[in-house]
Amino acid sequence: MLEIVLATRNKDKVKEIKRILTHLKVKILSIGDFPNMPGVEEDRKTLRGNAIKKAKETAKYTNKISLADDSGLQVYALNRKPGVTSARFAGKDCNYKDNNKKLLKLMKNKKNRKALFKCVMAITVPKGKTKTVTGTIIGTISTKSRGKHGFGYDPVFIVPQYNKTFAELGLSIKNKISHRAKALQKIRKILQEMT
Ligand code: IMP
Repeated sequence: MLEIVLATRNKDKVKEIKRILTHLKVKILSIGDFPNMPGVEEDRKTLRGNAIKKAKETAKYTNKISLADDSGLQVYALNRKPGVTSARFAGKDCNYKDNNKKLLKLMKNKKNRKALFKCVMAITVPKGKTKTVTGTIIGTISTKSRGKHGFGYDPVFIVPQYNKTFAELGLSIKNKISHRAKALQKIRKILQEMT
């Protein structure tokens, strides 16, 4: 069976990606299965740059097909921030709650609450090519945290067609409509061609 390694240590992303790719005839491993692999610094200026770097380094180390996800939230009233720095918006050792708190504070009294989630995925075949795909979803930023599912900015990102945050909607709906789900539909096609 074809084996792919997810080039991320983020357990929440691994959970979503594994659920979205069920029924594909591939065995999905993650960096957790390679405990000695050195960390990859996400120092590129774009989501695409970071995704490519993570996929290439993981494929090189594991000698397996590698899939990387770099994603971020772009808030229009904040000049598309936090963007590529979404994970560390509130500082180096911050957690999801700190990031949401900072975002809601910056968005206090802002009329334009439009935001975009973007996911860039890179897939690398060892000693071979790297392909990238993207998925996006447009929504709005809530005025307070709502819901208990998901991770990251899920409690503050409202999906207009449901008028609910990702955290209120839960994973089964999020995994059908999210930026990650859309990028993975394209990855699914690439993987199907390989199997
Ligand atoms: P990355 O590891 O650089 O891709 O960091 C992405 C960061 O963006 C995460 O730590 C989350 O804060 C946020 N993020 C990415 N995808 C999602 C999502 O699906 N829901 C909520 N937050 C997300």
